[in-house]
Amino acid sequence: MVKRTERPKVALDSLGCKLNQAEIQSLSRQLAEAGYRLVAPTDKADIYILNTCTVTHVADRKSRHMLRLARRRNPAARLVAIGCYAERSPQELARIEGVDLVLGNDQKWHLLKLLEDADNLSRLSAGTSLALLEKNRRTRAFLKVQDGCRNFCAYCIVPLVRSREEIVPVKKVVALVGGLVANGYQEVVLTGTEIGTYNRDGVNLKGLLERVLSETAVARLRLSSLQPPEISSELIGLWRNPRLCPHFHLSLQSGSDAVLGRMKRRYTSADYKGVVALIRDSVPDVAITTDVIVGFPDETEAEFQETYDFCRQIQFARIHVFPYSPRPGTAAATMPQQVSEIVKKQRSQQMLALAKESAQSFQQGFLGKTTNVLWEQKAGGVWSGLTGNYIKVYTRSNKSLTNQLLPVRLVKLYRDGIWGEF
Ligand code: SF4
Repeated sequence: MVKRTERPKVALDSLGCKLNQAEIQSLSRQLAEAGYRLVAPTDKADIYILNTCTVTHVADRKSRHMLRLARRRNPAARLVAIGCYAERSPQELARIEGVDLVLGNDQKWHLLKLLEDADNLSRLSAGTSLALLEKNRRTRAFLKVQDGCRNFCAYCIVPLVRSREEIVPVKKVVALVGGLVANGYQEVVLTGTEIGTYNRDGVNLKGLLERVLSETAVARLRLSSLQPPEISSELIGLWRNPRLCPHFHLSLQSGSDAVLGRMKRRYTSADYKGVVALIRDSVPDVAITTDVIVGFPDETEAEFQETYDFCRQIQFARIHVFPYSPRPGTAAATMPQQVSEIVKKQRSQQMLALAKESAQSFQQGFLGKTTNVLWEQKAGGVWSGLTGNYIKVYTRSNKSLTNQLLPVRLVKLYRDGIWGEF
């Protein structure tokens, strides 16, 4: 066991969903509490830990690339790959030069113990100060309250790599949110693979939100992805509380009912539209964001067009576009009519152009208004932060704005968001 003063520098990073970000934050806290010195993933570290993603082959490639980058940053560093890709194909990751440890989704929670047990950690050098911890501190915390999914959507690898459902008890969620608030976090994002199905000791998602809002002082509470069947008017009623961010990420995946059926999703486009109307009727200025898969097996031009038209009609504040990529072991991977890469690329480009147009039209509706922004960081002399309804806002200021929730007037479209003036 190494002495506390000799603790190595650790850089943690994650790819993929908000759940992965929540997990990496939780591991960061564990390691910091154990005395490890946290540094940014772009810094030279003694140990690099990457929470990988395997949702598409692009995510696989990014995971491998980031591990190789870490290796280049410090060839002597230990590389640890954890998470969904590590669960799906540990051998593939172990083959990457320099990767010392590969841990799947269950084993990764033993990481601290495994690092503690590594008797040669003492050879790792001591280095920069704890100030880096402060520098890297986030203003928004991602907190996992649920894990696992048994829905088996035809394209999704998640039920194969996160099959066991785990639900954090309400009391613990409340205590964790309270702890994050005490540590200065202004916003907490509750995440999970299927957060809408949260149910523990008779308390569902609505009950959980009520408890967090009444028992903590968190300034902003945001939810990660939900699906239409999980949304009721009782749940939406909670958004009368302004501390709940007016932002719903509702995964659509396709606007064609035939494709939704083949995907084994649990709603139709009409259900989806109904839920959007319910939310918009009850939550002023709400942002509805979504994910869309293009080029799912056998997706015809007409079916793609249905999705395109549906998205145009809904006017999303943000659309994440994913060209379908087969994941080994899933039902869709063996479907015979795979769409060609060229067609997927064309459809992605069309959908991305719509996403940009749609985001700008949503943002345009807020020009001239004043709204609160949680400022996060400064890059190239420009500060950026997020509104409650998930618009990225930029401004200039000589003062430090990090972690401040301040009102700003939204004056013009800028980059992927809006320019604000104090
Ligand atoms: S609901 Fe479907 S897409 Fe979401 S994690 Fe479960 S299987 Fe995957």
